[in-house]
Amino acid sequence: TSYVFDFSHGDKDQKDLLGGKGANLAEMTRLGLPVPPGFTITTEACRHYLAQGSEPQDLRLQVTMALRRLEDQVGRRLGDSVDPLLVSVRSGAKFSMPGMMETVLNVGLNDYSVLGLIEASGDERFVWDSYRRLIQMFGKTVLGIEGEAFAAALDAAKQVKGARSDVDLDAADLKDLVGDFKEIVLKHTGRDFPQDPREQLDLATRSVFDSWNTDRARLYRRRERIAHDLGTAVNVCTMVFGNLGETSGTGVCFTRDPATGRPGVYGDYMTNAQGEDVVSGIRNTLSLDDFAALDPASYGELRQIMRRLETHYRDLCDIEFTVERGKLWMLQTRVGKRTAGAAFRIASALVDERLITLDEALERVTGTQLANLMFPQFDPGTARTALTRGMAASPGAAVGRVVFDSPTAVEWAARGEQVVLLRRETNPEDLEGMLASAGILTSRGGKTSHAAVVARGMGKTAVCGADELEVDSVAKYAQAGGVRVEEGDLLSIDGTTGEVFVGQVPVVPSPVVRYLEEGLDAAVEGADEGTADLVRAVDRILGHADAVRRLGVRANADTADDAARARRMGAQGIGLCRTEHMFLGDRRVLIERVILAATPAERASALEALLPMQRADFTDLLETMDGLPVTIRLLDPPLHEFLPDRADLMVEVARAEERGEPDERAIRMLAAVNRLHESNPMLGLRGVRLGLTVPGLFSLQVRAIAEAVAARIAAGGHPHAEIMIPLVGSVMELHLIRDETDGVVAQVGADAGLDLTIPVGTMIELPRAALTAYRIAEAAEFFSFGTNDLTQTTWGFSRDDVEAAFFAAYLEKGVFTVSPFESLDVDGVGRLVRIAAQEGRAARPDLKLGVCGEHGGDPESIHFFHRTGLDYVSCSPFRVPVARLEAARATL
Ligand code: ADP
Ligand code: MG
Ligand code: MG
Repeated sequence: TSYVFDFSHGDKDQKDLLGGKGANLAEMTRLGLPVPPGFTITTEACRHYLAQGSEPQDLRLQVTMALRRLEDQVGRRLGDSVDPLLVSVRSGAKFSMPGMMETVLNVGLNDYSVLGLIEASGDERFVWDSYRRLIQMFGKTVLGIEGEAFAAALDAAKQVKGARSDVDLDAADLKDLVGDFKEIVLKHTGRDFPQDPREQLDLATRSVFDSWNTDRARLYRRRERIAHDLGTAVNVCTMVFGNLGETSGTGVCFTRDPATGRPGVYGDYMTNAQGEDVVSGIRNTLSLDDFAALDPASYGELRQIMRRLETHYRDLCDIEFTVERGKLWMLQTRVGKRTAGAAFRIASALVDERLITLDEALERVTGTQLANLMFPQFDPGTARTALTRGMAASPGAAVGRVVFDSPTAVEWAARGEQVVLLRRETNPEDLEGMLASAGILTSRGGKTSHAAVVARGMGKTAVCGADELEVDSVAKYAQAGGVRVEEGDLLSIDGTTGEVFVGQVPVVPSPVVRYLEEGLDAAVEGADEGTADLVRAVDRILGHADAVRRLGVRANADTADDAARARRMGAQGIGLCRTEHMFLGDRRVLIERVILAATPAERASALEALLPMQRADFTDLLETMDGLPVTIRLLDPPLHEFLPDRADLMVEVARAEERGEPDERAIRMLAAVNRLHESNPMLGLRGVRLGLTVPGLFSLQVRAIAEAVAARIAAGGHPHAEIMIPLVGSVMELHLIRDETDGVVAQVGADAGLDLTIPVGTMIELPRAALTAYRIAEAAEFFSFGTNDLTQTTWGFSRDDVEAAFFAAYLEKGVFTVSPFESLDVDGVGRLVRIAAQEGRAARPDLKLGVCGEHGGDPESIHFFHRTGLDYVSCSPFRVPVARLEAARATL
């Protein structure tokens, strides 16, 4: 096996084997760009090393041969005492991964080769600076010595000299510093800094391999859902020197603005610097314009290369370069990360520039990015500096007064304050406080911590793991970077970027929502250029999405208002109208009368009283959704939910008795509540079971629907109501209900002189329903997968309890990487969906299939539903645009 490839072999599509950095170095070499020559040790070698505990046998020899080729090519020898070759040893996994070993520069320097390099470069200061950097980096990353030890010695040297910056140290100072650094190595490791260049190279390589498994790297992979068995490549690259005086330097740049997507180049440059100096903030950087003025030739070449790379990758590129005495070298490129807004603007701009097609534009953006753009944001026009930042755990912008515990959050919220709950980490006891808060901020834990999981479930803004924050919840203050925040201080947190600000940052509504609600013209009018561009890009890409997607997108909406909003968001109908809200508020007394009825006649008259209201509700809804399907689910929740709380009632009854004036109504109510009480109401008397045991209840609802349809037809409308029966487990249940409902519909039709037909279907939300779909399809014109209940009943998880009780632990331990209530469990629940879809269609080829759980708005789940051949997904109105986009992306 070949474990080593020269940069001149390979290309950008070999990231699996060469890692991202190696594959792109090879690609740039292939394009003829000025890349310092070198070679890549493959991820396969790393995997071998990690599995066996030692390098593959051939590796040593293959590195020797690659090194010879390299030495021949550049005409210098690694660590030679005359004009030595130096190399950098750079990690580079398939996905860029902070937390792994950093790069070691200047490998090959030792007490002899320094002399050769002084001779060759004629710059003594530069050479000692390079040597001290090698010992420092090697000591830190390869030998595991605290970086503090070196930093302290460097500071001491600067102090002695009265130097403000490292450039103020001269050759002699740096030479002394090399001596100090060597002492540190000896003291910490018990041996001298390795002088053998090849040993330096091998040790650095091995430590890159080892860094794959550091805690930080593992944690990062868990968060980002990157597999643990990929391994990293190692790149060995000829050193070029940005620290050879004022005609040298190093820089980073982007081919467009990664924050806004605006065209035009962006970057920073620093003269007489090496490696990460430019991003480390040790000195002020120059802009690319300054660079152009300083070294027009190098700048000109860089601009040409940037354009070439962008055209070649057909995307925003992120570039690292170095200038050595006026000669430009390319050290890295990759397709750059960008904000959500920039992703849309860049994709659309690249279509304009004819670099990509509209289909490709769809691939360049995600539903999650679109969702982020739909949250309110902090006003981009307001100047502000972040106090600190953490993980962007749950998007949105929240402003409130800081509180350090849940009871205070609840108390302050109750008196009308907006609060931000600040904790080291949260636990199930914080639940009420989290509910009461506008936003949640923690100093510990990542995207899968309790706080993050629960906040996302609640749709609350959260920033987690802001680890610079010291939090004292007893003394009630927190501090970061010398700034102290007390209880009651205003804090603003950005769950989309992870930033935390002191004070109140103004919040503006999302321009993308404005566009969705009011149309393109309204959103563009008066907007600044960047916003207008963004909105146009979203419009264009969503428009294309609608043209290519196969899946329909409907909304879950219960009221005419929600339905109207859903329609504006692009919904093609209602996939789930819950009818329970129609029994709440003022109408609660009416349903109470139904439940408490002592005789069939009493019940019938109580139901009769509900009829006109239900009919009016449905008529409104059908009018708003005229021409589009409206799936109405008959009553689902257990009846006790409509009655007063049991404990409250008991108190009421007891009090009345004490006063010697027993409350007959309360006593009857309590009896009913006791009669209806269940230990597991979610598995109890609900859904179709209500229809079969409470005479007249479903008939009432069906009559209201049928009469609403008749009324809309009479008014010249085009109503498309569909009746959906919840919680069916057996076809027999459905037959029994249909006998009743079909009769009612026929009767209403006859009375109105119309030939009324209303499709009747069922939810598939019990495993038994999925497994007997072949039978159930006999009696159902459509299936709608209720994936919330189906997840609950398949896993045996109570969805109202688990998130708080143990999901955080399950996520932490890797039982799953994402809550199965958030993203469909494709292997288990998904298998049931697939079975039901196939068998249902086998029994009834024109069976319509949809989904109406939360998963209908989740990107990954939508891709699964597309693959499974469903006809539509239904989700909350706010998720409809996300579903439109992801349904299209699923076809690519
Ligand atoms: P990262 O993955 O953190 O970007 P790199 O391997 O790109 O790490 O190295 C960090 C920096 O070190 C580069 O941006 C570059 O400035 C410098 N560097 C790496 N290799 C060389 C080299 N062969 N010559 C000069 N500088 C180098
Ligand atoms: Mg880099
Ligand atoms: Mg359900």
